Amino acid sequence: MVQVTFLQSNNPTRPGNLCLHHTWPGWGLLQEQVMSKQIQTSPLPTMSQKDIDRFWSMVSKQGSGDCWEWTAGTYRRGYGAFHLNNRSFGAHRIAYYLAMGIDPQGLCVCHSCDNPPCCNPAHLWTGTHLDNNLDMKAKGRLEQGGRKLNESDVRTIRKLYKAGNVFERELGAMFGVTQKNISHIITRRNWPNVN
Ligand SMILES: [Zn+2]
Repeated sequence: MVQVTFLQSNNPTRPGNLCLHHTWPGWGLLQEQVMSKQIQTSPLPTMSQKDIDRFWSMVSKQGSGDCWEWTAGTYRRGYGAFHLNNRSFGAHRIAYYLAMGIDPQGLCVCHSCDNPPCCNPAHLWTGTHLDNNLDMKAKGRLEQGGRKLNESDVRTIRKLYKAGNVFERELGAMFGVTQKNISHIITRRNWPNVN
């Protein structure tokens, strides 16, 4: 397993193989409430029994092998958002924390079920973004030259590019595709019918 060190600075350059959605400050500026660098790098707070009960009351517990989906508010990409001490935390991170007794600080908490709102600890594992990519690759989600995009991704890419302050290659890194893919989306050579 590859160990990475999370940057503590405000350098907007995306560091190597870190999970971009969690660590690149520029992404946080562009996307609304994606889990931030702060959440990824700072320790999870101590939780009282009342906090813990409140947390699980928002999870739709099913059978041990099923997905336990978060029933309250989510981040834009579908991960559950749990509010505690005036901050918000990824619900799946809290679920992992409570079940394992280990703060996953500095690591991505990945879903073996690929279902972002899922909080079933049996479906969660920790890894670096690199592991995450390898996992996606193993599942065939990373295709030749990058990830398969959907219409919603295409709309977001065009919107972000239009808003400025972002390069095609950065959008490529965000969405796991090449700069060329992004260019074709922006010039409408690809996905011409998506508005
Ligand atoms: Zn699941």
